[in-house]
Amino acid sequence: MVSFSPEYIKYLKETYPDRSYLGVPKYKCQYCNAIFWFEEHNKKHQKHDGNQITYSNCCKYGSIKIPAFRQPPDFLFTLLNDKENSMSKHFITRIRQYNSLFAFTSMGGNIDKKLNRGEGPYVFRVNGQIHHHIGSLLPQKDTIPKFAQLYIFYKKNEIQNRIRALTNEETEETDIDPYIVQELKKMLDKHNPLVKVFRHARDLFEKYKGIDISIRIIGANKDDPIQFQMPHTDELAMLIVGDLNLENYKRDVIVSNKTRGLQRISIFHPAYMPLQYPLLFPYGERGFQLGITYDNQQKSSNKKRKRNKLTIHEYFKYHMHFRPNQPNPYLCYGRLSKQAIVDARAMEDEDRLMFIAKTQSKLRAEYIQGIFDAIEKGLSEGNQIGKRVLLPSSHTGCRRYVLQNYHDGIAICRVYGPPHLFITFTCNPKWPEISLAILPGEQPNDRPDIIVRVFHMKLQQLLNDLRSGCIFGPVLAILYSIEFQKRGLPHVHILLWLDRENNEITPEIIDKWISVEIPNPRKDLLGYILIAEHMVHGPCGDKNFNCPCMKKGKCSKFYPKDFENETYFTDIGFTRYRRRDTGIYIRRDNHNLDNRWIVLHNLYLLKRYQAHINVEFVNKSRLLKYLCKYVNKGPDHANIIFERIK
Ligand SMILES: [Zn+2]
Ligand SMILES: [Zn+2]
Repeated sequence: MVSFSPEYIKYLKETYPDRSYLGVPKYKCQYCNAIFWFEEHNKKHQKHDGNQITYSNCCKYGSIKIPAFRQPPDFLFTLLNDKENSMSKHFITRIRQYNSLFAFTSMGGNIDKKLNRGEGPYVFRVNGQIHHHIGSLLPQKDTIPKFAQLYIFYKKNEIQNRIRALTNEETEETDIDPYIVQELKKMLDKHNPLVKVFRHARDLFEKYKGIDISIRIIGANKDDPIQFQMPHTDELAMLIVGDLNLENYKRDVIVSNKTRGLQRISIFHPAYMPLQYPLLFPYGERGFQLGITYDNQQKSSNKKRKRNKLTIHEYFKYHMHFRPNQPNPYLCYGRLSKQAIVDARAMEDEDRLMFIAKTQSKLRAEYIQGIFDAIEKGLSEGNQIGKRVLLPSSHTGCRRYVLQNYHDGIAICRVYGPPHLFITFTCNPKWPEISLAILPGEQPNDRPDIIVRVFHMKLQQLLNDLRSGCIFGPVLAILYSIEFQKRGLPHVHILLWLDRENNEITPEIIDKWISVEIPNPRKDLLGYILIAEHMVHGPCGDKNFNCPCMKKGKCSKFYPKDFENETYFTDIGFTRYRRRDTGIYIRRDNHNLDNRWIVLHNLYLLKRYQAHINVEFVNKSRLLKYLCKYVNKGPDHANIIFERIK
């Protein structure tokens, strides 16, 4: 086989006339400077600003105003941005460990540590709720100081003690550079108002032995500005000497030297994030708090809003947008940003769930349904039902949500019969839209915001293509579900109902739609290259026993398949696709892989989207329920078992 230079391959891909290409995110929100792609502009609200292209997902036409983050202090700034430097590289891959060295609070939650074994980009995943806890100022007798206590307990050898405390907590990484720790400590001592208060407490403890001290980390007041340009120490936290009456400080967090066990920090406390992420918020920048109002000057319409305060969702949505020349701790600090995004999302979920729990009495209809459900389960007496919190189907991911979607799918099948095509479309992290949008030195995986936005736009394009009828003919219905792979890349499963009007689907039609053969590279080089990149299975079996598809010594997807001279339907209703022995093969891992290793695809869609797109004809014999379930299988559930202790 002849080989071609990467430049030529790139040229071929870029010059395919029907290629889907969204360009670079060169448009800017006129209010907040968030960048966006042309495809993302608000199509419905174009009238709103004359001919100007608008986008509202960032700041709702300027009604959300949040001051920009300041550039981090010099030492941290260089570590974060000088990506060629070996110390920076070391720091960026271990930024979570360096942050834990200085965190005031411990993060409780079920963190999945197994996920990152082996190769592949880093993924931060938690199961269930996240809590941030803070202990007392001084450790209990005979225990090792942790987290906030480290700011107080050691004056000598603080660096070594911090590193030792970390290696007790985290077993993942232990090669911490004491010089970086030393410099970060200096930096936080100088800039972080929370650190300053804790240091002050340390000095007082030293001076007056046995003194009673509390630190009050101040909660939100109604009229607070959202962030302080230059926060004064006493606006974030203050020292209180002697006893205090807790009743007066309900919104605050009080940390005292008397042991009160671990305290949970409320997600609405403005110091929730800065206490956990001192490296993301080196100036102790305050996070979300209740009561931030919309900016009234930019009233977009005359419509009266029901609500005039920012929600936690809107707050984080604002920060999940990249703005040129503005540091963004939620997007640009590698693994620590990923952790912060997951944390933010968990805050949002907690906020929603708390709202649902509080407004149960208003959810009348759901209530009644709950009683019916209980009776169905055989609970006939009122006291057996107990006090449950019901999640309405509008809460994404809950049981009712999944069930409702599943029933919608079954309803479509009842009207239109079984679907015709099953399409799986996977995000390609090498898409030029992604590589052009990330910053120099970043990997696609470092920017989940870019990945999901590009994938969403491409998916909308694909759905429009399908709806237009140009590819598989007129369409009756489409059902799809987006999932995230283990490593964080999104993919979508699509079920397609075609408008066939008594028109049987014959093997000839299937051959037009679906191919499983490698094109001749002399005639269709682009097709050959794309199939080699995206549509080859394995190698698995005796060529590679470690392939993820291998289950009990066999390929779970039944590769390699047999050669077939033509497409036909088997007696039990399976489709065998035309897979001829053409002698053309693709070289991978020292094996020649021929047509028996190719995954079902549509060559036009493959060339247009240049990603893994699997297109399969759905056979009627397949269980409908299985397909709908596959499309709506919902998230993984946690199982809780109550047992009586004997
Ligand atoms: Zn904006
Ligand atoms: Zn296999």
